[in-house]
Amino acid sequence: MHLPGLHHITAIAGDPRRNLDFYTRVLGLRFVKKSVNQDDPETYHLYYGDYAGSPGTILTFFPWAGIRRGRPGTGQAYATAFSVPAAALPFWQQRLADLKVPTAPVESRFADQVLPLFDPDGLRLELVATAEADPRPPAPAADVPAAVAIRGFHSTTLAVAHSAATAALLTGPMGGQSLAQAGHRQRFTTATGGPGTYVDLLTDPNLPNGLSGAGTVHHVAFRVADDAGYHAAHAELTALGLGVSPEIDRAYFKSIYYREPSGVLFEIATDQPGFAIDEPVESLGARLSLPPRLEPDRAAIEAALPPLA
Ligand code: ZN
Repeated sequence: MHLPGLHHITAIAGDPRRNLDFYTRVLGLRFVKKSVNQDDPETYHLYYGDYAGSPGTILTFFPWAGIRRGRPGTGQAYATAFSVPAAALPFWQQRLADLKVPTAPVESRFADQVLPLFDPDGLRLELVATAEADPRPPAPAADVPAAVAIRGFHSTTLAVAHSAATAALLTGPMGGQSLAQAGHRQRFTTATGGPGTYVDLLTDPNLPNGLSGAGTVHHVAFRVADDAGYHAAHAELTALGLGVSPEIDRAYFKSIYYREPSGVLFEIATDQPGFAIDEPVESLGARLSLPPRLEPDRAAIEAALPPLA
């Protein structure tokens, strides 16, 4: 397999308005797509990312108002990290303090400085201030200067009780490589390295078993460049007996899902056709987008969804 990096990461949230406010106003991401959970169309599926909705920048949420919080821990994607420029952390520390966003002390991790923070549902995010080249243009935001803005994903950290089987999947069938180890953390890349390609395995014995709920990640999706690679990945994962899903057309990309040996749900998603298939880039996120099979039910779906404004 050739997986050029992370495609999107999907997490579970509580109140959708609070979620929208945090990711667009506080973090300065673009609201790329307002859609519905295709398996539960009376709840939203909200997508945030860069201006164009590029693969590798997209954090999405299934928000269910009133859902109980989960417990971050092993068997989950424990932290979702964004890439910011090397000198950006003082801006973010001040901004997050001013906006009363919970943070944790800055950590050194490999060559980078990492600022952990928590969204309104307790989801663990990280801003990785890196000197590595990251030419991805940030989304324009009202009061986050481009020089310090989020570039897209840096990495996902998977908390696992034992890393060997997951590491073997990442470096074998998934075509990645191991890059570095420090303490309980081992870093992999799905490609040749660079922000947006990293998968860290964290084997911290102090972490509890994870429980799904608000503030936890639902799945991690990796990019595949084209349909040929997508079908080949499906065949290879099927042959491995990983219980891979059928091929599913998600309108904005085609997907397959499988659970890696430590229990984290993985997805492989095509870069095409992308989020501009049903609305122009200039007005992404402005109206409720529905996959074609749900379009006949638009009136009932819109009536059942809580207002976001
Ligand atoms: Zn997904």
